[in-house]
Amino acid sequence: MKASRLASAILATGLGLGSFAALADVPAPQDVPLNGTLKIDVDATDLARRVFRVHEVVPAQAGPLTLLYPQWLPGNHAPNGPIDKMAGLKVTANGKTLKWTRDPLNVYAFHVDVPEGASSVEVEFQYLSPQDTRQGRVVMTQEMLNLQWNAVTIYPAGYFASRIQAEASVKFPAGWQYGSALELASRDGNTVHFKPIKYDDLVDSPIYAGKYFKRVDLDPGAKTPVFLNIVADDPKYLEIKPEQLKVHQNLVQQMYKMYGAHHYDHYDFLFSLSDKMSGNGLEHHRSSENGMSPSYFTEWDKGVLGRDLLPHEFNHSWDGKYRRGADLATPNFNVPMQDSLLWVYEGQTQFWGNVMAARSGLWKEDEARDMLAMVAANYDKGRPGLQQWRNIQDTTNDPIIAQRRPLPYRNYQMSEDYYSGGQMIWLEVDGKLRELSGNKRSIDDFGKAFFGMENGKWEVNTYTFEDVVKTLNTIQPYDWAPYLRERLDGHGPITGGIEASGWKLVYNDKPSAAAKSAEARFGGANLTYSLGVSMAKGGDISDVLWDGPAFKAGLSPGMKIIAVNGKEFSNDAMKDAVTASAKDKNQPIELLVKNFDQYQTLRIDYHDGLKYPHLERITGKPDRLADLLKAR
Ligand SMILES: [Zn+2]
Repeated sequence: MKASRLASAILATGLGLGSFAALADVPAPQDVPLNGTLKIDVDATDLARRVFRVHEVVPAQAGPLTLLYPQWLPGNHAPNGPIDKMAGLKVTANGKTLKWTRDPLNVYAFHVDVPEGASSVEVEFQYLSPQDTRQGRVVMTQEMLNLQWNAVTIYPAGYFASRIQAEASVKFPAGWQYGSALELASRDGNTVHFKPIKYDDLVDSPIYAGKYFKRVDLDPGAKTPVFLNIVADDPKYLEIKPEQLKVHQNLVQQMYKMYGAHHYDHYDFLFSLSDKMSGNGLEHHRSSENGMSPSYFTEWDKGVLGRDLLPHEFNHSWDGKYRRGADLATPNFNVPMQDSLLWVYEGQTQFWGNVMAARSGLWKEDEARDMLAMVAANYDKGRPGLQQWRNIQDTTNDPIIAQRRPLPYRNYQMSEDYYSGGQMIWLEVDGKLRELSGNKRSIDDFGKAFFGMENGKWEVNTYTFEDVVKTLNTIQPYDWAPYLRERLDGHGPITGGIEASGWKLVYNDKPSAAAKSAEARFGGANLTYSLGVSMAKGGDISDVLWDGPAFKAGLSPGMKIIAVNGKEFSNDAMKDAVTASAKDKNQPIELLVKNFDQYQTLRIDYHDGLKYPHLERITGKPDRLADLLKAR
């Protein structure tokens, strides 16, 4: 981490790759072909121990060689390659073991000296799946595995990843099936050999394999196939009702109608339904990694919250993989990324993920509205950090700063707000486009113009902030640069898109169905917009709104609520106390809290009752939200 930050700092000064290489003694990537093919064989059969065993042949010539373990991972936008799970590294040439040394300034780089007469080195190591989630993402269980090539390969420094040809095979547990964007070359028992592919595309083509597997056609009869590959903890979770299949098939058509082009020659959703393997949501050009709870299909009515996952990851094939911020598109996996345009990459994908969930029928219109109300409330009252010190643009640094570690005061610190904050900004852009054009133009036109060219091509097509502005101007001339910068760099509310869509954000004492599902999912109570506190199951405080009523009374996220108004804590007891204090203005809410080993009584002086966000129509204004959310 330190080495990478140093390298980042040096790159940011504009000195470029040469200086990075000079500093850490790692050859900079060059746009030249690797002479030979990188051969990778992975044994993924040790399910009991959860170990992937790797054997590689790396073309080399006599002299110094630097091998890299991928550090900067696309989609993560961060230097978080799981090198702490890589073990047992052994390098040999012509049958002799070579001594390796780790670069002191770049712990992802290993140096070896290749002896005279050798034309390759052999590399062996293991990738150890976390045994529980405290160690990281669990990627191997008795029923399934998630193989990411960045975790099970090292590659030679000095080349663009696109100039390294790779040939890979995986030995799977007997009887397992797999899904991947990789194309089959041959099968030899349980070992699958894939067709040769560029190393950067290999890393972009993970595998989900499992004992219980189902492959579903999401675009029957299409020239460019789209499949949903499902692995599950138990075969019963693979049951899909016809109406559930239909809304997933609709998703593909709704995306095509908006974008008018796609950027793959085939596409595979990889989808795990598991309580054991860690969930994921990670985009690729021709596939995506998706993970949900086992009951995604079987308890459909309870699953509203996660149903925008597939639309989100699918959208990234256009926004993020094909079109990518120029500062994010790096030549290999060990050059620092810059994340300044993630408010387009993730922000607009968050926007389309939600919209497409509605257009396809994965969400009903009222579900989509409830979800939007929760996002809008976040940027109305739930992010005091936005008013007080940070802006959406600065949060694009968070994949590098926080790397998704839990935070003590997320609402104040902010983290990755370019997702939902970006969504709000794009909703407002849609409203502005409609207003300025008399409803003739909308964000659909931007989507098509910015992401919908070069049908079938999937080489990265980079863009800058100026390119975004230019495309907006071709759709509807306006001062788009200051308009966007004000929202990205400012501290004002970014909820204007709600009113522009003909709706307003209101709060009342009844949670929406979506808010109820959100509470049910974590088993707690979310009183963010009333008391300014949310609790996990059993009274453990999960968040305290900075400067909110609970914060002012002395509550902090480290505490546990033991009793409320003299009664043992429960979610309902908390809510009853809030309601009671609204009826009697002299009645404070008295909490017995535990802080480390001390008990303390705190009083919250709050009398406005329960508050949950909703959207309400503005009479007389056209319902542009309904138009945005309806199927094309
Ligand atoms: Zn995303």
